[in-house]
Amino acid sequence: MRLKFKELSQCYFKLEKTQKKLEMVDILAETLSKASSEEIGKISLLTIGKIYPDFLGIELMLAEKMATKALAISTGKNEKNVAKIVEEVGDLGQTAQILLEKKSQSTLLSFTAQKEEKDYEIIDVWNILDSIAQTSGEGSSDKKIRILSGLISKASPLEARYIVRMVIGQLRLGVAIQLLLEALAKAKTGTRDKKNILERAYNITSDICFVSETLFKEGIEAVAEIKAQIMNPIKVMLAQRVSSAEELLERFDGKVSLEYKYDGLRVQLHKKGDKIKLFSRRPEDITKQFPDVIEFIHDAALKDNFIIEGEIVAYDSKKEKILPFQQVSQRKRKHDIEQKITEIPVRVYLFDALYADNKSILDEGYLKRREVLSNILKETESIKFSHQTIADNTDEIDSFFHHALENSCEGVMGKGVGEDSIYQAGARGWNWVKYKADYVDKLSDSFDLVILGAEFGKGKRAGKYGTFLLGCFDVEESIYQTFTRVATGFSDDDLAHFFEILKPLEREKPKEVLSDIDCSVWFDPKIVIEITGAEITKSQMHTCSRGYFDNENDGLALRFPRFTGKLVDDRPPEQATSNEEIRTIYLLKQ
Ligand code: ATP
Repeated sequence: MRLKFKELSQCYFKLEKTQKKLEMVDILAETLSKASSEEIGKISLLTIGKIYPDFLGIELMLAEKMATKALAISTGKNEKNVAKIVEEVGDLGQTAQILLEKKSQSTLLSFTAQKEEKDYEIIDVWNILDSIAQTSGEGSSDKKIRILSGLISKASPLEARYIVRMVIGQLRLGVAIQLLLEALAKAKTGTRDKKNILERAYNITSDICFVSETLFKEGIEAVAEIKAQIMNPIKVMLAQRVSSAEELLERFDGKVSLEYKYDGLRVQLHKKGDKIKLFSRRPEDITKQFPDVIEFIHDAALKDNFIIEGEIVAYDSKKEKILPFQQVSQRKRKHDIEQKITEIPVRVYLFDALYADNKSILDEGYLKRREVLSNILKETESIKFSHQTIADNTDEIDSFFHHALENSCEGVMGKGVGEDSIYQAGARGWNWVKYKADYVDKLSDSFDLVILGAEFGKGKRAGKYGTFLLGCFDVEESIYQTFTRVATGFSDDDLAHFFEILKPLEREKPKEVLSDIDCSVWFDPKIVIEITGAEITKSQMHTCSRGYFDNENDGLALRFPRFTGKLVDDRPPEQATSNEEIRTIYLLKQ
């Protein structure tokens, strides 16, 4: 028997009512355990607010205005009245629920009106949401609104609450992927212990639908056997940081593979026969934005099938010089692509191979993978292997480091040389370490922090947000902790832009945010910005790393923060600077 969307909605409602993580896992696991293997993939996606894995690029996201219109049509209300209720209750989902409750009461009172509710199966709702997402072209907005209003008009009030939130991309359950993986493990194996197996499979496929279906169809043993596949992006491996050559060498027991750290856009390239796809680190499909890179790979490839990684940088071939990040970041666009290809030519520096000769090589040591890389492609004018050497003393590291800076790089990457230096998909482990110019002498480099809340500005900033509460991500707990409040470094244009992108994200304080500081407005934690600061100090105001120090009220705070002008839009908030990284920097400076 197939599960009803009503049951899923009740589960979501219970999830909303608790802050306790274990309780959430239990509530979700109970409902998931009733799903069939045909349904579980779609339920998993819906529960994290998606209908497809990100890398397929099929998004549901409807503008709030369109969803408001659909709600107005399906409840026979005027759009302005709907918007007024939204303003009062602060959420379109709750507004939908209120309006549908009113509608069903009036239907009960009227003897002539028919009860219209349909007993939706989850699959029905997924199918309809899918058709909304797939509608494109002329007149598509009206069509989407029509489909959505049809869906809402036959939904129960509670179902409407979540349908509306799903379409505008604000489900607000506080269920991150980690919690979902735990709940799936519990639902199928009875305990949360096997979550790691699911997490590994998810990290190498980026596809929760496939992983959960495999679990429900073939069991946890089959999930443990899942392998990386070409055209499914592998979650990128990230680096820890060190602030001296001595520490770098120590981290790798006296011998390290060094590479230039190029300042560009990370790219994972997948080739299967003639087909090539490029994924960003989010991972999003960015193939269409770089037709030139596709050509370069076709020219350089010596093999048919592979997955490799590198950094795309802007390159001035006359001056033989890598150009700053700001240049290449202009290539991340959906329009005028051809024009930008001529204006901002790029080069790719490749540094890793993850799949070759029809198998995954994630578990091979780094040097082996690097050797494979050199057999997959040849170097051309536009495809290069990252500059590399093996070092076993600090003089060599210093000299390589300075060459890197002279060649317009940010610093160096250190990578393990042993067989254990495997590719840790989705992890920020110590197999990769970055050592950047900014770390020398100064506090550290910048932090990528998530905007959690804001206060309105005064004077000429009135009406816009003027001060922002920023947080880091706690990977273990999947929560955001506060780290600093920033009001400097913003131009008037920045503030106008932030108001535009943050206003639709306003909401009640999210439960995934751990904060002792109150804010006039809270946001869905989605926007990441780059911040520099003067010093990290202990603070009882901020929750970053609270619980790690002798005094249990102590957290860490960034003093004299300043916005660098960079909106970090190439990574999800879960890849923002973590509390662990901040702690490492704090301890290094003690
Ligand atoms: P940062 O802002 O310091 O680049 P990050 O959060 O973007 O940090 P990290 O994993 O901390 O990413 O640092 C490694 C990043 O450096 C990679 O994601 C990649 O984009 C870039 N990079 C440049 N050159 C190399 C290289 N030779 N090997 C690995 N990564 C490299």
